[in-house]
Formats: sequence, C-alpha cells, structure tokens
Amino acid sequence: MRTRRRAVSNVFAKIHNMFVRPPAFEYKDRKLYCERIPLDQLAEKYGTPLYVYSATAIQDRFSIFDTAFEGVPHTICYSVKANSNLSILRLLAKLGAGFDIVSGGELERVRLADKKTLSKVVFSGVGKTADELALALRAGILLFNVESEGELELLAECAGKLRTTANVALRVNPDVPAETHPYISTGLHEHKFGVPIDTARGLYRRAAAHKYLKVAGVSLHIGSQITDVSPFAIAIERATELIRQLTADGHKIRFLDGGGGLGISYNSAQPLPFPELVSSYAQAITSVLQQLGKQRPHLLLEPGRSIVAPAGALVTRVLYTKRNGAKNFAIVDAAMNDLLRPALYGARHEITPVALEEAIIQTDVVGPVCESGDFLARDVTLPALGSGEYLCVLDAGAYGMALASNYNTRPRPAEVLVEGARARVIRRRETLKETLHPESACL
Ligand SMILES: *Cc1c(COP(=O)(O)O)cnc(C)c1O
Repeated sequence: MRTRRRAVSNVFAKIHNMFVRPPAFEYKDRKLYCERIPLDQLAEKYGTPLYVYSATAIQDRFSIFDTAFEGVPHTICYSVKANSNLSILRLLAKLGAGFDIVSGGELERVRLADKKTLSKVVFSGVGKTADELALALRAGILLFNVESEGELELLAECAGKLRTTANVALRVNPDVPAETHPYISTGLHEHKFGVPIDTARGLYRRAAAHKYLKVAGVSLHIGSQITDVSPFAIAIERATELIRQLTADGHKIRFLDGGGGLGISYNSAQPLPFPELVSSYAQAITSVLQQLGKQRPHLLLEPGRSIVAPAGALVTRVLYTKRNGAKNFAIVDAAMNDLLRPALYGARHEITPVALEEAIIQTDVVGPVCESGDFLARDVTLPALGSGEYLCVLDAGAYGMALASNYNTRPRPAEVLVEGARARVIRRRETLKETLHPESACL
C-alpha cells in the first residue's frame, strides 16, 4: 500500500515540477502571438480565416497526459476525430501516441501520418461497414471496440474471409451520467453507443466461440467535455467489476480502454489547470484499476479535446461593423462552416483582438453565412473595431477544422503549425475550384 501511494505521489510531483510552458497564445507588447510569431503576421501571409496551432502546446499536453499515467502500463490513443490534420497526427505519433479512429477514412489518415503506428490503433464507432472492418483487419490494428451483436458477427465474417484474427473489446455502456452537453454525453442506456454492461457477458461468450475473434478487452467512453473526474472513476469501477466476472468466465482481458472525454475550460475567468486536472483524473482511474491486482489490464485512453483544443485558435478578419437598434455586430470572415461549435452546441469560445486595445463595446461576432445561428460569440466586450482588424477565436484546436464544411460554398480555411519562430502550412487553403470539382466534373 505504501509503495503504491509513493508511486502515485511521485507522478504528482513530477508533473508539478515539469516545466509547463506559457500558454500557446499570449500577448507581448500588446500583440497576440502564437509561440514566437505575431498572429497578424500569419494572417497577412496566409490569409484568413486561418487555423493556427502551437506544436509545443500539443507536445506539452500530450506529455503531461502520458506522464500522469506512468505508474501503470498504458497507451494514449489520441482521438483522431478531434483534429485529424496529418501533420498533427505525425507529431503525436512521434511522441509515442497510438490512435483512436472512428472510420476507414481516419485509418487512412493514420497510415499516411505514420504507418508504423497502425499497430497502436483502436477502432470505435457504432456503424462500421464491412469495407472499413476489412481495411482495419488488413492494417493489423490493435483492437476493435465492437458496439453491437451485429457488428460482432460481421467482424467475425470479415476476419474469417481474410483468415486473420481480430482482437475484440466490447464497448460497454456503463450507464453513468456525465455533466456535459446532451449531444456529447454518450454513457447512458438511452444513447446509441455500446452494449448494456449487464448483457455484455453473453456477448463475450459468443465472441469467444468465433474462430477468428479473440476476446481481448473491455472498452467504454462516457462522453466529452467532462471536467469532473468522478464519472470516470465510476465508469472504470463498473468496468473492473465486469473484468472480474469475465476473468472468472475464462476470458483473458488484456486491455481496458477508458475512452476520452476529459474537458478543458473555455473560460479564462474559470481556469482549469491541465496538470492538476490530469493528475486527479489519472489518480481516480489508476486507483480503481490497481484493485484488480494481477488481473490488471493494459490501460488505453482516447483523449482528443484535452490534447489539442487550447493549442489551436482561429484567426479571422473583421469585414464590417454595424449597429441594429441596440445591438452591435462585428461581421467577420470566419463562419459556422469554419467553426461549428457555437452553432451546434451553443459552445462559448473566447474572442480576443490580435492587437490589444481597451475593450469598450459589447458586440456579437458573426459570420457571413445566411443563418441566424451563424455566430462565433454573442455579447463579447471588445475594442472599437474597424474593418480589416483581426480577431482570434481561442481554444479552437479541437472539433474546429474537423467539423468544417463547405456550407454556403465557402472553401475551407488553411491551417498553420507554429513551433517557436517557425510556421509551416499543414493544410493549404482550399480553392473554389477544388470545392466545386466533384460537381463541375459531372456537368
Ligand atoms: C470522440 C471520442 C473520443 C474523444 O473525446 P474527447 O472528448 O475529444 O476526448 C474518444 N473516444 C471515442 C470513442 C469518441 O467517440
């Protein structure tokens, strides 16, 4: 007991002593920088709307996460859907990340980013097709997180055709409510995800009977943007009870996949320091896991947002300002097609001027798309803005570009990755020609 406690407190100390660098985006001489590059410089050079990411912040956040779990055998499988840019995936692969994918397309992204990492891929999702399963079987991924009996049968059939064995975990639904937006809460029986935890044993028995399936793990994912660690602990507790039963049933459970979902603060007035949050999250999970003793499986985790959200921002240019009655509007060149979160979830992102001046007016920051839901922020206090000035939408590194579309026939923005004083385009701006091509080619 004592050594265990010491191990945990060592991890604690290590994280606290770690050199946590300043935020990715900060003002120097009243100018907003990403690392060592002023954002106005990037905006002038690459145009707007522009996604800008700090490589150092992504690396730091991944390392903090990884280090927090060093007391237990684990693999951090970054959730590709949060930000699937190939260069960001490559950066994370270099740090030793595995990946959590939800489609055949994301599998191809991992292959392009770093082929060697395919063996550290876990495949989640309620609607995997036969083609996607076959692709993943051929790629030799680590684990299939199976979400229904139908999928189990299809996977067995695909694996049989290819004469290859699939490592299988069932995604169980632990029925744990998490305080988050209803669209991103996933761990209740009323949600479409996973199989009810109390019916899982029967399905494991069926899986074990298939020649080309190998029962290997238990997986769960209870939702996203969860900032309280207790639902995670409860879910893992329920999973460990299941692992005990499955072990008694004769299965060998080598992996426990705890999913993703750790949140961040989108409000600087209520900061949520990452090292502290991650270490309490890690403590909550590992202390439950340790109760399994020798049966303790290898831990997999699938963080997305908590690794990349604060490492990215969306830079946009003011097109017009206007006043309708009592209300001020800043109409900017980024819209809901570039950043959907405010329109989709009512999410709040802080918006800050690239050139710092005294904030004096209350305004809505809205995009050019023809929908009243097309706003980036409402009632924010900003300096008096003129057209041509730049604004920066913070914490846009996760579910920003990943959710971007061509709505209103708007080509998607460019993405730039900054490391120190170096900036690199990691996705060039889409051209109108590219946007139109799938249709113009059919005329
Ligand atoms: C979306 C998702 C994640 C990542 O969630 P975050 O909140 O971004 O950490 C992990 N696992 C699964 C199965 C998911 O669907």
